[in-house]
Amino acid sequence: MGPQRVSIETTRLRLAQVVPCTEAEGPGRRFAIWFQGCPLRCPGCCNPEMLPFEGGWEAEVDAIAGQVEQATTSLGIEGITLLGGEPTAQAAGASELARRVRATGLSVMVFSGFTLEEIRASADPATLDLLAQTDLLVDGPYLRERPESHRRWIGSSNQRVHALTDRYRIDDTCWSRPNTLELRLAGGELRVNGFPATSAVGIWRRPREARPAESS
Ligand code: SF4
Repeated sequence: MGPQRVSIETTRLRLAQVVPCTEAEGPGRRFAIWFQGCPLRCPGCCNPEMLPFEGGWEAEVDAIAGQVEQATTSLGIEGITLLGGEPTAQAAGASELARRVRATGLSVMVFSGFTLEEIRASADPATLDLLAQTDLLVDGPYLRERPESHRRWIGSSNQRVHALTDRYRIDDTCWSRPNTLELRLAGGELRVNGFPATSAVGIWRRPREARPAESS
């Protein structure tokens, strides 16, 4: 099964979560956007609440592009990350947003449950356009029986990282640093993003070399 398009207007997106500045969803500081809805059902998916297409909230591409612009100025982000959920399921809006932010010099990273070959074989021009606007693609379904143990930001070892432009290198040392988990308290709500693995470092856990109990 390849990427499918859902009936959402080109200038609107159905989103599950937005984090204006994170270092836990790809290289550098990024504006991360979780899409609501995914046609796949990977056992062990870490965002099951983002799978139904009727959840989340609707947002204009224009409004999100404005938030990205603001984050570029105030938070120094270098790009956006589209994940979810499945970004290619809302390819029209996703590609429009990607095109707009790229025109301002930002990079675009996409996490998709479909493989690069499946995306390239799509008959949907918007899906192909999204791919054309993507600098970094992490592809393939999450396989919980094959957890990734080396590469940062990657869920399972079958998933590949494709540098589709020369903006990033997949042999950069950033891919081998420890995963991180970020916690934010906003409006009385605790928001979590990043990598919920025991190997992750973050607010409650320091990097291995910094833990006294494990130092020699
Ligand atoms: S593709 Fe991603 S969001 Fe969709 S079910 Fe698989 S892990 Fe979950």
